[in-house]
Amino acid sequence: MEVMQVLHMNRGNGETSYAKNSTVQSNIISIAKSITEEALIKLMNNTVMESMGIADLGCSSGPNCLLSAWNIIDAIHATCRDANRPIPELSVALNDLPTNDFNYIFASLSEFHDKLEREKGSGFRQCFVSAVAGSFYGRLFPRRSLHFVHSSSSLHWLSQVPIDLENENGIATVTNKGKIYISKTSPQSVLKAYAFQFHKDFSEFLRSRSEELVPGGRMVLSFIGRNSSDPTTEESGYQWELLAQALMDMAKEGIIEEEKIDTFNAPYYAPCSGEVTVAIEAEGSFGVDRLETVEIDWEGCLGEKSYDVKSKSEAISRGLRVANTIRAVVESMLESHFGENVMDELFRRYGEIVGDYFYERRPRYGNIIVSLVRKG
Ligand code: SAH
Repeated sequence: MEVMQVLHMNRGNGETSYAKNSTVQSNIISIAKSITEEALIKLMNNTVMESMGIADLGCSSGPNCLLSAWNIIDAIHATCRDANRPIPELSVALNDLPTNDFNYIFASLSEFHDKLEREKGSGFRQCFVSAVAGSFYGRLFPRRSLHFVHSSSSLHWLSQVPIDLENENGIATVTNKGKIYISKTSPQSVLKAYAFQFHKDFSEFLRSRSEELVPGGRMVLSFIGRNSSDPTTEESGYQWELLAQALMDMAKEGIIEEEKIDTFNAPYYAPCSGEVTVAIEAEGSFGVDRLETVEIDWEGCLGEKSYDVKSKSEAISRGLRVANTIRAVVESMLESHFGENVMDELFRRYGEIVGDYFYERRPRYGNIIVSLVRKG
């Protein structure tokens, strides 16, 4: 599978679009806001900066894309105001894969600029927003042109299906029978292949950013991760396990071929914090200022309260809503493998399976937030 070509969040503004189904990710941006502010304060510490290069990597489309940019600008504004310093000219680059719906972003830009001037004053006239299409697992910007990099809910996507699971023609070489991600029944070779691919990709990400950031430049990255060192526990990727169940049900009824399921593996990995720090230390260009793991439930809430499910029918309707949030993210990939015509049926079944699971359990995504500084 060519991830660059098939992975994109659902476009536009419709029922199944990412724009309408990304509250979980928007809440994650808000959770990391204070860490982003802290990193910017440290970055601007006592220095008057004339201009700043900022990048949001894996920006997607929809309201979250400009929400991250807004939070960064808001923090810069507050820091300059508190220190009674002029606001630097800002270059804000929004990056995603070439198939991303960049038009959605361009269409919202004039409203964004109006809001900036209205709420932050004329100092923000010099805020230059651009879009950069390409993979963040490689160079995107000139050497030493960036001061701050932000990325939210994106780095759990791998650059490709793990090398050892698929040959160069996209044919599966190790079978992950009836599953589409790491599962209790997966052979050890599958676990190893995923861990290896994450290490390789994340190291490449760090290497590329280390060239683009100025010494002392900072990054705040948040992405799905896990608490346990065991990648087969439910917190690691149970959304894929349930999706595989829905696919297998359809295979049993002859709606899709079982072989298609065996040959699909998600280009996704939820690392534990140890895997993240090992890669950072081995690459060597960044120091870890802060690393936190937070949990958020599948509907995007932090507390326990939301799991007060009173009836089976309530669980099912909440399951269907959760299925839509996952559909907005993974449909492009599944559609290219299983065909467009089975998507409605697949996500209807998936919603019911998620609903049943909700009735019994309190599923959560682990989320790693790491704040890094480029060594000088
Ligand atoms: N930051 C946004 C979007 C998260 S969705 C938010 O918080 O809501 C994840 C995004 O990462 C998707 O738009 C996907 O296309 C992008 N992405 C995945 N792999 C990427 C890569 N290698 N390079 C650039 N963007 C990538």
